[in-house]
Amino acid sequence: MGVFSKRKTIFVDSDILVIGGGMAGCGATYESRYWGRDLNVVCVEKANIERSGAVAQGLYAINCYMGMQWDENQPEDHVRYARNDLMGLVREDLGYDIARHVDSSVHKFEEWGLPIMKDPKTGRYLREGKWQIMIHGESYKPIVAEAARKAATKVYNRIMITHLLMDKSKPNRVAGAVGFNVRTGDFYVFRGKAVIVCAGGASHIFKPRSTGEGMGRTWYAPWSSASAYALPIQVGAKMTQMENRIVLTRFKDGYGPVGAYFLHLKTYTQNVHGNEYESTWYENTKELVGDYIDRHPVPTCLRNHAILEEVKAGRGPIRMVTTEAFQDPHLETVGWENFLGMTIGQAVVWASQNIDPKHTNPELTTSEPYVMGSHATCSGAWASGPEDYAPDEYQWGYNRMMTVDGLFGAGDTIGGTAHKFSSGSFTEGRIAGKAAVKYVMDMGNDVPEVDETEYENLKTVVYQPLENYTVGRNEITGGTVSPSYILPLHGLQRLEKIMDEYVGGISAHYKTNTWMLNRGLELLSMLKEDLVHAGAEDLHQLMRTWELNHRVLASQSVTHHTLFREETRWPGYYYRADHPKLDDTDWHCFTLSKFHAESGEWEMEKAPVYHIID
Ligand SMILES: Cc1cc2nc3c(=O)[nH]c(=O)nc-3n(C[C@H](O)[C@H](O)[C@H](O)COP(=O)(O)OP(=O)(O)OC[C@H]3O[C@@H](n4cnc5c(N)ncnc54)[C@H](O)[C@@H]3O)c2cc1C
Repeated sequence: MGVFSKRKTIFVDSDILVIGGGMAGCGATYESRYWGRDLNVVCVEKANIERSGAVAQGLYAINCYMGMQWDENQPEDHVRYARNDLMGLVREDLGYDIARHVDSSVHKFEEWGLPIMKDPKTGRYLREGKWQIMIHGESYKPIVAEAARKAATKVYNRIMITHLLMDKSKPNRVAGAVGFNVRTGDFYVFRGKAVIVCAGGASHIFKPRSTGEGMGRTWYAPWSSASAYALPIQVGAKMTQMENRIVLTRFKDGYGPVGAYFLHLKTYTQNVHGNEYESTWYENTKELVGDYIDRHPVPTCLRNHAILEEVKAGRGPIRMVTTEAFQDPHLETVGWENFLGMTIGQAVVWASQNIDPKHTNPELTTSEPYVMGSHATCSGAWASGPEDYAPDEYQWGYNRMMTVDGLFGAGDTIGGTAHKFSSGSFTEGRIAGKAAVKYVMDMGNDVPEVDETEYENLKTVVYQPLENYTVGRNEITGGTVSPSYILPLHGLQRLEKIMDEYVGGISAHYKTNTWMLNRGLELLSMLKEDLVHAGAEDLHQLMRTWELNHRVLASQSVTHHTLFREETRWPGYYYRADHPKLDDTDWHCFTLSKFHAESGEWEMEKAPVYHIID
């Protein structure tokens, strides 16, 4: 046993264990308390729930609100919208379930103090677009976190969960999780009768556009490290649509959002010659995807496709025409506030690059791919659907339960449900929380038991990188390169390079093929072998090491899924060059994977897409 495995072990009992206190985790914690008055509800978070997750910096709009009280939209409309945007493939049962409840979540946010802008003429929430409402959202996350803090029996901040624990006697039942405190280094064993994974999406899987001095600047939060996928994958939960990575069109270098610009400021894009370019690529796109190009609104990936083709034709950069809208002082204010309330970095980038959008039309670019489940994309775990709405094939237990008993998920964690955003993720957390309470209530005395050998072994594994570093450090007198360990940053850069070059990142123009994917898998396996020798200098680097482990496992999943789907379903997100067209005959289906930890094998299968709504 190594020196670091002598660290203190702290045991925590819970009925409901929520992993990750972002939007979904706060929703899950809040709702678990509502239905489970006397239950022990524990939320464990890598950072501090006050300012954690993708909403940490604040938001300027809530992107998923039906407005049913004013008959603005119905849940069915939202399902049609998400289905259209994802080129036909969404879990309609799950999406409908969120849409029918999301308004009530937003009303709670307002009750808890979130300022929502109002239309002075109608008194209704001010719309940015058909689904978006505008907020003064700098404090969105602290407001939501307060509700979770009050609901939880206890919130454990600064603990990174590294592994889930399984029941000693029932092999497919979850029993808790282990992790370590990133400040004190204490080892934590959480026992939970039900576990809800809400650990956000994944950035830094693919090489970002910003490297070197700009490293860390990404669109999705840099601390979204794929735990949401790796934790369930490790214990054999099925995943779906992991190939459906998202590429965002954003303002160059700061990843500033474009939604408010398009929808509220009514700005538009043009090529370097000042011309509209989307129509140029209409026939080309129709060749690839057929009638999907005629849908309204045009699916997000296809709009990316037009930009990519125009730039490849040498008529880049694509620029956002801001100089007209910014002549109106009100719109100018809105344009700047949009960044100050949610992506301050973009305002700083413009200031540092002498870009005043009143006089200069700023450049747009397409981002590196991200893996997540709540935006215009739907990667994540394969979950059981709502009892009153899901087709039989989508129901094997409690709502939002994965294919592992007692293991639930919400937000970016759950696959098949695009366009839930912040409000929908919170709502899905509530749905999962309610179902998890029912699961615990139904369980009676048949409670899971953690295995001492399992968590003791994991304790050694978790701290091994500290030991690798301490021992290996003696072999070098200076610098960061050692013959006997790999630092987490080196491992991360190697991962990003593999994914970028072989699995369809920016430098490959988002293109890949069978050979490249297979080679990518080989290189990922070699990286995984080397990660056993990761060296962590301190607790922060230990966290980075485990984030890297989670990212690598999720990347393997993405690569297997991309290989399995032999078509190009979402041009503009990625291209299978050897199967360049959308193929509804063979691939109008979900892709599912299951990882077998003992053998290291990945099992792939198709699952049907049921269109429940006309
Ligand atoms: C730049 C940007 C702009 C956006 N704009 C909008 C918008 O305008 N409107 C809108 O409605 N939505 C917007 N979104 C989307 C919204 O933020 C997400 O949909 C939502 O936050 C997803 O919720 P989640 O709970 O799944 O993930 P998160 O909110 O990211 O929460 C995940 C949590 O898990 C924690 N965690 C991760 N790993 C571990 C681990 N191993 N152990 C313990 N804890 C862990 C993280 O620290 C984090 O707190 C935007 C997102 C980004 C990044």
